[in-house]
Amino acid sequence: MTLPCAVVIGLGLRTLGQERELAEKRLSDERARLEQDIGAGLAQELAEEAGGGKDVLALAIHEGSVQPPWQAIRVRDAGERFRSTIRRGETEEFARDDPTTALVAYRRAAAVAETPFETATALLAVARVQAKLARRSEAIDLYAELLETPGATVDEDGIPFALYAATRLGDLESSSPTVVSRLQRVDLAGAWLRPEATYMLRSAVGTLPKGDAVEALARRVDQRIDVIEVVMALLDAEQSGPGFWARPVPSDGAEPQWRLDAGDRWLVAALGGVEEPRVVIVPTAAVFGRVERSEKLAGGRLGAFRIVARGANEEPLDPRFPDLAVRFDNVDDLVASDLRPQLTFYLVTLLLVIALTLFGGLLLWRDVRRDVEMAEMRSQFVSSVSHELRTPLTSIRMFAETLRDRPSGAEAPADDFLEIIIGESERLTRLLDNVLNFSKIERGSKIYHLDSMRLEEAVESARRALAFSLEQHGFELIVDVEEGLPLAHADRDAIEQAVLNLLTNAVKYSNGERRIELCLRRDGQFGAIEVTDHGIGIRPEDRERIFEPFYRVKHPQLEHVPGTGLGLALVRHIADAHQGDVTVESSPGQGSTFRLRIPLEGIDA
Ligand code: ADP
Repeated sequence: MTLPCAVVIGLGLRTLGQERELAEKRLSDERARLEQDIGAGLAQELAEEAGGGKDVLALAIHEGSVQPPWQAIRVRDAGERFRSTIRRGETEEFARDDPTTALVAYRRAAAVAETPFETATALLAVARVQAKLARRSEAIDLYAELLETPGATVDEDGIPFALYAATRLGDLESSSPTVVSRLQRVDLAGAWLRPEATYMLRSAVGTLPKGDAVEALARRVDQRIDVIEVVMALLDAEQSGPGFWARPVPSDGAEPQWRLDAGDRWLVAALGGVEEPRVVIVPTAAVFGRVERSEKLAGGRLGAFRIVARGANEEPLDPRFPDLAVRFDNVDDLVASDLRPQLTFYLVTLLLVIALTLFGGLLLWRDVRRDVEMAEMRSQFVSSVSHELRTPLTSIRMFAETLRDRPSGAEAPADDFLEIIIGESERLTRLLDNVLNFSKIERGSKIYHLDSMRLEEAVESARRALAFSLEQHGFELIVDVEEGLPLAHADRDAIEQAVLNLLTNAVKYSNGERRIELCLRRDGQFGAIEVTDHGIGIRPEDRERIFEPFYRVKHPQLEHVPGTGLGLALVRHIADAHQGDVTVESSPGQGSTFRLRIPLEGIDA
């Protein structure tokens, strides 16, 4: 039983494994196709972005090296006359610690200044010294004036004068709205600041009182710093590496390769061919988002996906994007849902096989149990038969011996003894008839000699055969035979034997209630012979089984009642052989009526 189950489970598991592999293969093919499309979509988005996106940064490549955007900021030199005047002021201010004299020198420098750079340098120094001399309001006015210097006017370090002015003003009077608006202008002018200037701008913004405008400004400055850091990292890589970025894509239409920066936020590629080589830096978030949301790409069976920085064990998306990979959210669910129908099928089959096997097992078990019961019954039968033989034999012997040992001429009731001996030998004969007939039936050699006969005769001879023994045991047999019954086509001896069996049972199971009715009447096309007793009765669950060969009801009350279990089996066989039937009605404790029906001749159904 376990073997077929195990085989089915094994086969099922194997097939499921194969199905899973297939489903995975299908999905990975689909995935590869989709990845191709994603790569193409991404390349297109990036090409469009590189052609004029708002946050895109394009760096020229000059003589084989990448030019940072702040390269263009020119630092001016001062004229000789101005320089010496300023230096005098610085000597007074710092070496001699004499701000008053220094102030005079700086004023003179301002007067001789010829360029905006010189003017701004001088005025910045004037304001500084005024602040030192505690001429605060004059200094503030001057810084405010300097704040208006154009962003492109820078000192020799490339830092706009306006930024200096803003920082100092911030120190002198903390919440000046002009400073905020001026810093906004430094930032929004769009011109590139050198990295140092940008960091300075950030710290200047950091000192401003919090507010919406200031926060927006801070965000923009942070973005600038982001870009600057990418560019710096790029320049570093350029210096340490083999000059990758300096080798732009040839103009014959080869595909650019996009690399991801270390912070995973920018994609960088060399573009433009040899005529106009440049490095393009594109912020990834928006571009990725557009590709990820694209209807055509995200609407497939694989569902939503994300473009991510490639992990150590992941395949790159595409040779154009060696640092990127695609992650699908629900691939495992898809494999599972692909497999669901097969899984259900195998489960159902498995359950069926198990159910069938169990059912088969049950049938087998019932058969075996029957066989065992049968064997038990047969062995019980042998002991019952021996027991049944012994009783009549004993009494025959006893009465025969009594007759033999009788003193000659004694007035003993010899007739009674002889009757008993005859009765007992008839009982013996009946018993042996039962056994012999049953064995013939078992062998299939039992033949019934059917002939036209009167059922009354069979009933009468059965009654007669038992009359003496019934009388002896004090039984009252009430016989009720309907007059004028049609003939039956039957085996006389067999019918008599059946009636005898029913009557002997009525006696055996009478339980002290010594009234038995024997009735023959017409029941439609049948002649019905009914034997009714008022004894122990039969439980409903035994009413069918008592007709099986060897079956005897197990009940403590019945333990000492002799019997072979063949009587009713024979009655049923006889009924069947005559196309009749035998039934029983009974209520336990009140008695039973057995009805044997034999078809009558010349009556149509
Ligand atoms: P047995 O030799 O045991 O009487 P039978 O085939 O004649 O064998 O009867 C089978 C069983 O049916 C009996 O063991 C008995 O339990 C039950 N049975 C038969 N006739 C009666 C009856 N008239 N009243 C109660 N039980 C009966």
